[in-house]
Amino acid sequence: MTQPKRYTITAALPYTNGPIHIGHLAGVYVPADIYARYLRLTGNDVAFMCGSDEHGVPITIKAKKEGVSPQDIVDKYHAIIKQSFLDFGITFDNYSRTTAKVHHDTASEFFKTLYDKGEFIEEITEQLYDAEAHQFLADRFVVGTCPKCGNEESYGDQCEVCGTSHNATDLINPKSAITGATPTLKETKHWFLPLDKHEAFLKEWILDGHKKDWKPNVYGQCKSWIDDGLRPRAVTRDLDWGIPVPVEGGEGKVLYVWFDAPIGYISATKEWAEREGKDWEPYWKDKDTKLVHFIGKDNIVFHCIIFPAMLKAEGSFILPDNVPANEFLNLEGNKLSTSKNWAVWLHEYLQEFPDQQDVLRYALTANAPETKDNDFTWKDFQARNNNELVAIFGNFINRVVVLTNKYYNGIVPTPNEFSKVDEETLATVKAYPNVIASSIERYRFREASQELINLARLGNKYLADEEPWKVIKEDEARVQTIMYITLQIASALATLSEPFLPFTSHKLKGILCFTQNNKNENDCHAELVEASHWDDISSKDTLLPTGHQITKAELLFSKIEDKEIQAQLDKLETSKKANEAANKETEPQKETIAFEDFTKLDIRVGTILEAEKMPKTKKLLVLKVDTGIDMRTIVSGIAESFTPEEVIGKQVTVLVNLAPRALRGVESQGMILMTETPEGKLVFVNPDKSNEVNNGLRIS
Ligand SMILES: [Zn+2]
Repeated sequence: MTQPKRYTITAALPYTNGPIHIGHLAGVYVPADIYARYLRLTGNDVAFMCGSDEHGVPITIKAKKEGVSPQDIVDKYHAIIKQSFLDFGITFDNYSRTTAKVHHDTASEFFKTLYDKGEFIEEITEQLYDAEAHQFLADRFVVGTCPKCGNEESYGDQCEVCGTSHNATDLINPKSAITGATPTLKETKHWFLPLDKHEAFLKEWILDGHKKDWKPNVYGQCKSWIDDGLRPRAVTRDLDWGIPVPVEGGEGKVLYVWFDAPIGYISATKEWAEREGKDWEPYWKDKDTKLVHFIGKDNIVFHCIIFPAMLKAEGSFILPDNVPANEFLNLEGNKLSTSKNWAVWLHEYLQEFPDQQDVLRYALTANAPETKDNDFTWKDFQARNNNELVAIFGNFINRVVVLTNKYYNGIVPTPNEFSKVDEETLATVKAYPNVIASSIERYRFREASQELINLARLGNKYLADEEPWKVIKEDEARVQTIMYITLQIASALATLSEPFLPFTSHKLKGILCFTQNNKNENDCHAELVEASHWDDISSKDTLLPTGHQITKAELLFSKIEDKEIQAQLDKLETSKKANEAANKETEPQKETIAFEDFTKLDIRVGTILEAEKMPKTKKLLVLKVDTGIDMRTIVSGIAESFTPEEVIGKQVTVLVNLAPRALRGVESQGMILMTETPEGKLVFVNPDKSNEVNNGLRIS
């Protein structure tokens, strides 16, 4: 496409059955936001659309489990998700929701258009039916073996292991997710989108048309589906949560969530256009509009095959120019999982790292899963912050601002003659907007973020080489030039960092006294100047004019300490242990014993009166216990769970007639009864506290 007239950018609609985590941010929303911000900075007309995906089976399952309505579930998570996006500076032009009326109307109309054009196949088919629940089963209501890869826990609509999308009836050995029953087949009428009919078009459009510009992972997945042969896909469901099928015979049925969800991009655009007094249609129907879908790899089939087939069948819409799907982000070597709480939740991150949105945005971009699955580690997060944002970007800006204030009271000095190094440095700065833009336009956001840091690195190196703090003693005129140049670099960074580090960019523009709504403006004594536009950096010789006054230094980033990282690792360790505990099976019962065997055990109530650590051991405490019979020494392996102070005075149960044995030279005369939780925590088994029990009482 030659220069588009406008851009429609969509980010995958998050599914509203839980909050969002770093995987979502890294895979979809941060790259989409970088792209949208960059396009706006370069003067483009942009519609950046998203919203909550609020229909579908998982929401009804969650609602059933929690005893609330599906609407309650989506209201709750829509609010949480929307807030997270705001907090992280994701600049959607509209964040809508699929339960909105505008969406119901738009999706309904879209279906009717296709129906009227005869684009659907209407068929009475046998579908899986749960007789116990009196309900047809589709999508996530069914679990069974994937016909392609053999995964035994594949869902009815898609296998999460191999990514294949299929019909519920394709599953081997299906089971109802509601009752666990084996479903029977029952006849029902549905509408199907005949994907096979669109095969030739998809082949030509994707396999021939986008071989070079689509990412290899996206192209490869599409090719594999098309090569496997496309089949009709049902676009309606027997369900009561969703958009009612708007044609005769559709009673009690709704549109399949994957039919209505992508139409959500269109309804979000309509809602926005209405609000802004614009016309929505050019954003979806003008061939000079560039449409780009940002998604995760699990959504490729829907955005590259099914939705384009729907748009093509409708006839008046444009098709996506690109679908730069990312691979998955893992966390500390394991797959992110909502149910296992193996995640970094955005709302929790902000409580633990307040005002450090940019650090996470940056760490996720610098390590984005663009070409393969990638791992997020807290150590890498810390290193990205400390070694790149603090040591390079922050350090450069801080030195420039401090020195300008020190030498020139914050006023941009007049440069004198430029040296060869000065000329080269300024020329290199001028090249950066194009370098970064080229990476962004090819959806290489990691590369782009590294180029931004390279610009700060250039500034740092220039300062280190020119050493104004030394030169000031003998050649004041030279320092004016050096500081003038570093201020131009700082100014370029303020603009070029905006897509990646929007909060930092805003702060820096405040420090440099650019025109913006900013608390710093009060500290800017001289006149404010406008921040340079992206393209000005290449075309203008001066970004920050001589005589302009900047304000005082303010730290842009702060070092993240080891203990903050350890706290995060400990938190994950707790999740891991809880998961292991949940998976741990209860030990099977031991062999039965005779009553006489039991009566041989003499178990008494006792009280620990003294306790001290056994020297040179980690695990052992030497206890003095009042058993009611006598005062005796018992060695107990509880020192890793309790300090001596914690156990003194504790009433416990003691097996008193256990044969004495020597441990590290101390004779232990009995055993304190304990249990161990699955997390490995030791717990005393002691008499009910509400009753007074004397030492020496027998337990039987
Ligand atoms: Zn599979």
